[in-house]
Formats: sequence, C-alpha cells, structure tokens
Amino acid sequence: MPHAPETFVHLHNHTEYSLLDGASRIQAMVTRAAELDMPAIGLTDHGVMYGAIHFYKACKEAGIKPIIGCEVYVAPRSRLLREGRVDRDPNHLTLLAANHAGYLNLMRLCTVGQMEGMYYKPRIDKEILAQHSEGLIALSGCLQGEAASRIVDGDIDGARESVAAYRDIFGPDRFLLEVQRHGIDRQVEVNDALVRFGKEFGLRLCATNDLHYVHRHDSEAHDVLLCLQTGARFNDPNRWRFSTQENYLKTPAEMIEAFADMPEALASTLEVADQCDLKLSLGATLLPPFDVPDGMKPDQYLRQLVLNGLDWRFGKPAPAAKERAEQELSVISQTGYASYFLIVWDFYNFARQNGIVVGPGRGSAAGSLVSYCLGITNLDPLQHGLIFERFLNIDRVSMPDIDCDFSVEGREKVIRYVSEKYGADRVAQIITFTTMASKAAIRDVGRVLEVPLRDTDRLAKLVPVWQGRSKTLEDTIKEVSEFREAYESSEEAKHLIDVARTLEGVSRNVSTHAAGVVIAPEPLVRYTPLQYGPGREAVITQYDMKAVGDIGLLKIDFLGLQNLDIIATCMRLIKERRGIEIDLEHLTFDDAKTYELIANGDTHGVFQLEGPGMRRMVMDMRPQSFEDVAAAIALFRPGPMVNIPAFIARKQGREPIEYMHERLEPILRETYGVMIYQEQVMMAARELAGFTMSEADILRAAMGKKDKAKMAKLRTKFIDGTVERGIPKATAEALFDGIAKFAEYGFNRAHSAAYGVISYQTAYLKANYPLEYMTALLIHMEGSADRVATAIVDCRLRGIDVLAPDINRSRTDFSMTDEQFPSPHRGEGQGEGRGGRIRFGLAAIKNVGRHAVESIVGLRDADGPFKSLEDLCERTSAVQDVNRRVLEALVQSGACDSLGERARLIAALDHAVSRAERARRDRESGQTSLLEMVGSPDVETDDYGLTIDVAPMAGDAKLRL
Ligand SMILES: [Zn+2]
Ligand SMILES: [Zn+2]
Repeated sequence: MPHAPETFVHLHNHTEYSLLDGASRIQAMVTRAAELDMPAIGLTDHGVMYGAIHFYKACKEAGIKPIIGCEVYVAPRSRLLREGRVDRDPNHLTLLAANHAGYLNLMRLCTVGQMEGMYYKPRIDKEILAQHSEGLIALSGCLQGEAASRIVDGDIDGARESVAAYRDIFGPDRFLLEVQRHGIDRQVEVNDALVRFGKEFGLRLCATNDLHYVHRHDSEAHDVLLCLQTGARFNDPNRWRFSTQENYLKTPAEMIEAFADMPEALASTLEVADQCDLKLSLGATLLPPFDVPDGMKPDQYLRQLVLNGLDWRFGKPAPAAKERAEQELSVISQTGYASYFLIVWDFYNFARQNGIVVGPGRGSAAGSLVSYCLGITNLDPLQHGLIFERFLNIDRVSMPDIDCDFSVEGREKVIRYVSEKYGADRVAQIITFTTMASKAAIRDVGRVLEVPLRDTDRLAKLVPVWQGRSKTLEDTIKEVSEFREAYESSEEAKHLIDVARTLEGVSRNVSTHAAGVVIAPEPLVRYTPLQYGPGREAVITQYDMKAVGDIGLLKIDFLGLQNLDIIATCMRLIKERRGIEIDLEHLTFDDAKTYELIANGDTHGVFQLEGPGMRRMVMDMRPQSFEDVAAAIALFRPGPMVNIPAFIARKQGREPIEYMHERLEPILRETYGVMIYQEQVMMAARELAGFTMSEADILRAAMGKKDKAKMAKLRTKFIDGTVERGIPKATAEALFDGIAKFAEYGFNRAHSAAYGVISYQTAYLKANYPLEYMTALLIHMEGSADRVATAIVDCRLRGIDVLAPDINRSRTDFSMTDEQFPSPHRGEGQGEGRGGRIRFGLAAIKNVGRHAVESIVGLRDADGPFKSLEDLCERTSAVQDVNRRVLEALVQSGACDSLGERARLIAALDHAVSRAERARRDRESGQTSLLEMVGSPDVETDDYGLTIDVAPMAGDAKLRL
C-alpha cells in the first residue's frame, strides 16, 4: 500500500456563488487553504462559474494554484427539453479545467447548460460533454453523481455502465472516481463499489470533501442559508438539511486521517493539481476591431473625424483648440485606443441620426476635446476648464471609462444597434449580484431562527445607514453601544448576530446590471460564460463588472436617463404647439429666467436639483451662472458639503474671498477661492510646483485615496518644485497640506459640469415652456401615483390647470388642451388655467393598463365619442385588454362622469358588461335572433339564463357573470 501524502488538495468546493447553497467566501476559503500550506485549491460551484476570475486572482495573490472548475448537472438523457424527455433530477459531475482548452470548454459547457438546458437547473448531457471534453478532468461526483446514485439504487450494472461511459469520454487519465466521507451511511456503500470499479477499470480514486463553508462552526450559517433558499424554519424537523457538519475546509491531517485506508485517493488530489496548469492572461485590452475606410488606419480615421469635428464645433477653431486636439490625438495613438474612440463615436452617431436624445457626457470623458469634437460629449472642455489627463493619462494607462447617457427609450435601440453591428454573440449585458446587507441579514436570520420579531426588529433598527447603505455588523458592534451591549449580554442576540455576520454580504440573487454592456472581438463565450438574465430578456455574462474588466473586455455603461426622455418629449410638444425647434446643444447658459427659477427653488422635475436639501441650498446660494450650477452639484454630497457655508458666504460677499496663494487666484476665482474640484487640485500642482498634467493626476488620485506612501513621495517633489519657483519652503509645505485637505473631498469637475448641462437644460425648458415641460414630466411619471400627485401640485402653483380624466376627451397620455369648458378642479387652484391646461392621461389611471387605453382612444377617434356606459361597453367588448375591472377603474376615477353619475354607473356596470358580452358572442356566432330577444334595455337578471346555451360555444373564460 502506498504511503499517505503529506498534504492534500481540496478539489470540490462551493462558494457563495452557489447562490444560497454556499456560505464560504472566496477570499476566506483561499486564505484558509494558504494558511494550511496547501499547494492548490479548486472551485466548483453549482452549474455556474461566477466566481472564477475573483478566485483566480485571490489564489495568485495568496501564492497557491487556482483550479477553476464547476459542479455541472448532467441530464441522464438529453439536456434539451423535448417532450417526454425531461429529467428533473440531473446527476452531478465535478469538472476541472486542466489547461486553457479545458477552460474554454468549461465556459462553453456552462453556457450551454444555462441557455439550452435550463429546467430548474442548468443541465448539460453526455453528448455535449463528449464534444467538449478536451482539457477537462472529471471526478465522478458526490452522492448525486450518476454512478453513486445508481449504486444507492442497487443498480450496480447501471453504475458500471456510467463509469465506462465517462472513462470513454475523458480517458482513463482524466476521469477519477470521487470518494467522500461525511459520516453518511450511503457513502460507505458507494465508496466500496467505487473501489471495486477502480480496480476493474484501472481508474484512480480521488477524495473530496464537498466544501460548502470554510470552518466547521459555519455549518449553522450554511444551514440558515439553505432555509432562506427553501423558505423553511431552522427548527422544522422535516426541512431539507445537510445531514452532517463535515462540509468545511478540513486540514490535510483531518483528510489524511479520514482516508487513512485509501492513501491513493489522497495522493491523486495532488496528482490532479499537478495535471492542472491554467494560466489566464488578465489585464489585456480586448478591443473589437473597428472597420475604417479603405487604406486608412484607425489613428488616421480618428484624426480625420476630429478635424472635421473641430470645424463643426467651432466654425473656425482657435489655434489653442487645434493644439489641444493634436495633443490628445497623440496620447490616444500612443495608448492604442483609437478604435475605442471610433466604436463609441459610431454608436453616438447612430443615436443622433435616429433622433435619440443623448446626454452631454458623464464622468471624466467630458474632459476630452476629442470626445467633444466626435459628439460623444457635449460641452466644450476648453471653455469649462476640463482636463484631458483626468480622463486618459499616458503615465497611468487604463482603458478610459465613457459612461453614455441615452433616453430610456433610446437606450434599447442603441444596444440593439451595437449588437447587430458587432454580432449578437459578441455583445452582452453584464451580470450583477444582489448581496445580503447587514440589516437584511439580521432580519432574515432572525426569521429562520424564530427569534421573536420584536427583538430582531430592535437589533436591525440599530444598524446605522450611511449614504444609503447599512453599515457592516462588525462596525455596528464597534460604533453602536446599545447594539454592542445586546451582543455582549444576550446569548440569543449574540447567536443571531454571529450567524448574520457570516452571511452578511453573501450573494443571493442574480440580476442584470442596469447599464453595463460588453463588446468582444470574438464570440464572448471564449472570454466569459454566458446565461440569460432574469425573465430571459437579455443575454448576460456570468462574470461581473469587475471580472469582465480584469479580463480586459471593452465594457461600456449605457445608462437610460429618464430626464432625457422628458427633454425629448418636451421638445416634441414645443414643436407641435409652437412650431419652434429648440437647439439644446447650443444653449448659451445665460438665460435670466432659468436662474430665477433655480434661485426660487422652483426645481421640481429639474435634474439633480430637486431634492429638498438641494432646493434649500440653491435658494441660499442663488446661482447666477453655469459655474454656480455645476458647483452646487459638486458641493451637495457628503464630504464636500463642509464647504457649502464658506462658498455661499463668499459668493454673497459676507466673507472675504481669500486664496491660499495669489498664484491660485486664476484657478479658484470661479469658485470664490474654495477648492471644489479635482481639476483644480491638478492645475494647482502644475501652477505651483511645475507638475505635468499626468503627474498632477497621479497626485490627485493619491490625495483622493489618502495613499500615504505615494503622497509622501509626491510631497517632496511638490515642495522642491514650488521652492524652485520662488516660494519659501514653509509656505510650500503649508500649500501642499492645504491642498491635500481639500483634495480629499474633491469632485470631478467634468462630471458636475456635464450633469450641470442637463440641470440647466431642464430648468431652461421648465422656465420658458412650463406647459410643455409639465406635460412631458407628467407623461413620464405615469407609472408612479406619488410623482404624478407632486407634479400636479406644481402645475397648480404655476397656474396650470390639470383637468380630470375624461373618457371622451383624455388622450392615452397627459396632453395639453385648449378646451374652454370648466373643469371640476377650477376654483381650487389660484390659476384658473392662465398657465394653460393639461388633460389627465387615461394611462395614468390605476389598474387600467396602457393597451386597454390605447384601444379605447382608438375606437373613439375612429367612431366618435362614447354616448353612454352601454355604448362604451358594447364598443369595447371585443377588445381583449378591456375587461370589467378596467371599466370599473375608469368609472371610479371619474373618467366616465360625462356618461352619468358615478354611483349609478357602478351599479349598472355588471349588467352593461354582460349584455355587451352576450351581444358580442351572438354577433360572433351569428345568433342575431337571440340578441333581439334580449335586446330590450331593461333586461333583468333572469335573462342570464339565456347565456347558458351560448357560453360553452364561445368558451370565453373572461366572462364573469
Ligand atoms: Zn453534488
Ligand atoms: Zn458539491
């Protein structure tokens, strides 16, 4: 018998990415394995590879070998959902990628399972396995493995067949018989049989521990997780649970002891680890090629577009603009990102050509003149003092981030365009995971453990929320004395909090990232496994935003910004009503009415300026220029807020405007000597110490992150440079420290300026075209009763009458109207409609639905107004979406008041509906004579008897008599 090895490698391990079936965090698992001096560790989540890249990086950092794998589900027959061939309980199989070919195959298999074989579990089958087995090592699986489950069923021949089949697929070197010992009786029987098969087939045994949590004491937390998955109570004797507490990361000694009689099953874990050697090249740049006109290189084509753009933007561009453009182009060329700019330019171009409203830019992209000339951003970086190096820096090369804002409606179209252009198999949205926040963890764990609701609630409420996120339990124990006391004094509370702490931050659900889209140079499945997002609406990557970035894929944030839809609708209404076409891209930021509206805090519906705190601030501040608006956006957030009082006092002349140094005056003049922006930090470093912009950007980043080591280095350089420029050393030191203090809170000026543009545009439209703007606002608020109500109040305050819904006058959406008759609301507001009138849209009525309303309005437009409730019921009876519930909602809302008194209509509704329904069915079945029999308007309930004969023929389940 061979000797037992000295160490052991865990090859079958689950993490939190086995969603609600794994309590181990990747970092904790890898750290523990490294602590135990294990040379390698595997990752085999259930049917997915979500954690693979994070795992790979964590292992590299810890200095142990990562073995990426997956515990797949294999359908006994076919993965495809053909009739009669559905297997609900697929078998488990442990797959490990031995090399790059294996990794590629594993991604393909995981994708196929998700996209072709999803039936409760993502299933694959032996057929597809056989096609993609290269580079993969397979272990026969846990008790739910095919061979094991047949052994348990007493089907030894079936088990033998399975072993033979997998040996044929993977070959004898890459298929091992998996043995587990968790103290479960059936495992003894299975292992005995597997040992016999091993001899019979000449296959190696391989010991695993099917890890689901890192430490033995985490088994309870894992159990709670299972309860959350199944909705069970912890103490329910009948619930699904792991029968033992053995599924943790056991030490080599523990594993060696457990398998003392099977040393070869231990040794083979090390052999498998040796067989595996997967190297991923992270940090590459994987740009899809961009088709440029014949004979040109991307650099040249970009240059041509930018030169044209200079003329488009400036007419006759100043030398400074030309010089800046050339300088940016040279950096873009050196960093190799020309194609990147072309790709982004191309879909912006598509959007503009198709009338899709695009945002003015977001984030640091607005610092680039090239972006401005390409129409990617819409504010002049020269005019606004925005810096290119903040966006793309030759000394700190990383793919620049361009966040793209489109109207919500336009966003889908742009994504579809990109998908068609680069290939549907190369474009996908990105996955994101919802994690269990600390507060929710307390509540969920409390419910499962059946802690009295009162106690759970008290503890959960003690968790502080900071910037919209609840603090960690660790921090809460430190910071909240009442919480700490509960933790220290009550056994029950301690228990609850400890379990919650283990689970806090664990991923529990998959969803589609709101913005992120990846575009790959080759089919995506070569870089990331894929799956459908919830609702099967979109194909998404199995790797999250961070991991996709690590791989080097081009990811672009396509954001849908509802304010842009409001702007688009408003401009359409202005054109319809006044025949004016507004050129938003060329607003001059000097409209007095706009600033007055902002200073009055009349900013409901104005982008970024509508929250109550923000409104109070702009009323204090009274912005008078675009600079002021941008500053307001930058200042109003935790951190920079500390500068608000000084900013306002200086602006209003109550406090003198002082500069840290006279040389900073030109840089800080527009913000009254207060350093608000990161760009100001950079310019100060250049002005005082002679930093290049690239160096200044590195200083800015170090100060922002409070990176002490880097700051110390740069401090010396800063002070030397400043002294060289004739400023005394002590002053130089004070300047550095003063700047560092501001820089901590510094905000990206490009970002606040770009946002400021949308704020200005929305305020401009509201101030100058209030009726159109409020109508547009109402149209886009239709889904939310609260927001409609707020907007209506705002309308009344500005003398705009919002007329009640009317079945014969309302359109589908809110609409401007020139109707001259009194509305029920007249007299309540001060306005009497002097600001115009808006008619309530039928689609905004609760429980009605857009389709139903569109049909009703269509019928009315075609055949004239509805004369009575009966007429309405009859004419809509053939429309699928209009049922009794819809009609009732319309009557209740008052939309049918012109047809009669509301109470009477409600009372008559049932009758009118069934009569209309009967008439319709008679029409359809040609029984007009029957219709005539009941044709009198005063039929009573006993007439329903007549329908009995007809109903089975019509077979309409919708009829509710
Ligand atoms: Zn399993
Ligand atoms: Zn497993």
